[in-house]
Amino acid sequence: MKAEQVVVCGAGIVGMATALSLKKAGFTVSILAPAWQGFEPAEGFYHPRVYALSAASQAYLEKLGVWRLMNAKRLTAVQSMQVYGDSGACLHLHAWQAAQEHLAWIVESGEIERALHQALSVFGVDWHDDTLVALENNVLHTAKGQQLSAQLVVGADGARSRLRELAGITHQAKPYGDAGMVAHLQAERPHQHTALQWFTGDSILALLPMPDVQGQAQVSMVWSVSQQVADHYLAMEPAQRQAKLAREIYAISGGQLGQLTLRSQLFAFPLTLESSGMVAPGVALVGDAAHRVHPLAGQGLNLGLGDVEALVTVLTQKEAMRSVGDLRVLHRYRRLRAEPIAAMRLATDGLYRLFAVPGLPVSWARNTAMRVCDRIPFIKRSLIGHAAGQGNGTGL
Ligand SMILES: Cc1cc2nc3c(=O)[nH]c(=O)nc-3n(C[C@H](O)[C@H](O)[C@H](O)COP(=O)(O)OP(=O)(O)OC[C@H]3O[C@@H](n4cnc5c(N)ncnc54)[C@H](O)[C@@H]3O)c2cc1C
Repeated sequence: MKAEQVVVCGAGIVGMATALSLKKAGFTVSILAPAWQGFEPAEGFYHPRVYALSAASQAYLEKLGVWRLMNAKRLTAVQSMQVYGDSGACLHLHAWQAAQEHLAWIVESGEIERALHQALSVFGVDWHDDTLVALENNVLHTAKGQQLSAQLVVGADGARSRLRELAGITHQAKPYGDAGMVAHLQAERPHQHTALQWFTGDSILALLPMPDVQGQAQVSMVWSVSQQVADHYLAMEPAQRQAKLAREIYAISGGQLGQLTLRSQLFAFPLTLESSGMVAPGVALVGDAAHRVHPLAGQGLNLGLGDVEALVTVLTQKEAMRSVGDLRVLHRYRRLRAEPIAAMRLATDGLYRLFAVPGLPVSWARNTAMRVCDRIPFIKRSLIGHAAGQGNGTGL
């Protein structure tokens, strides 16, 4: 009998991980996506996009054989977190409080992609350097005029998924009206492997630990601000932007890391809350094509890797008589992901809204709740478990 074909459409981290995982599980799989742009990890240069990978995601990449392909010097372990409310409350979480070695790892997007790309080459996964433009009866039509047929098409083509649209899968998007500004900063004081976060009421600032550069501490900034503020920053002259950013970040962080200097370009990404129906006959969505959450908990990619693990498990365990594209099989995948996705959506959106409400009584309540959580060990252990990925469904 001819092997069933799976085509993974899109090759960001989630798409590449899906193709590798399916190949390793024995499926016939190819990728349809523009060729990977490459990443040269030069000394002192860091990819502008970094992710906080949960312990569950790290374990999954380890299982795929990808973790060991990454340069250990470019990975930073997060051993503790400090989260500040808008009137002085602080929640401290340490890995040791839940008998764990690390809470998360900060890893560059380019470094994960490089390792995945290398593994895909070793495993001989076919890569069609092209883009999807149409879909007819599970035949994919590409921009360069190719036609690829597949029993299952996995949509890993990101937030603006063309496949989702072509397959008629339901999709809801709610823009936050905010943008996530990201950049790497040089810090005067050491970060001590601590991830710092401040909820200020009108913005959320995170400073994530990165490798030192020439003896100087480095952190990666994710600052969620209104789109208006982001546009204002992007339109400024570089010197003016540097000075304003350093001043504002110093003020929000209370000088905890000393003076901070911009050491990379500044990028801004619009933030939206999105969900989808996830499956259709012969089609399954993973990663940002399936859902998007606010980056305040740094969990979008972790959720996507959880999708990959669940989908491959469901396909591996399906009855031999059923096709990989059988909707009954794909519904099992959707059901398996429903709870972790809904929980992450609720937690991130809930926190965002809780801190967006102005006024003293609400501010008092949320800061008091943080102080109480900080004093109760079992709540802290549960929060640490979520930070490590036990709540995002990455550990099946
Ligand atoms: C500011 C910010 C900070 C974040 N921080 C974190 C964090 O710390 N931790 C975390 O877990 N998550 C984080 N996230 C979320 C994370 O960035 C995303 O969830 C993740 O990058 C999604 O990966 P993906 O592979 O699904 O999609 P993408 O990375 O968008 O990849 C999509 C791929 O599909 C391809 N493609 C598109 N259209 C077509 C087509 N028609 N045909 C073929 N191919 C196509 C593209 O070329 C691309 O290769 C953050 C997000 C933001 C905005």
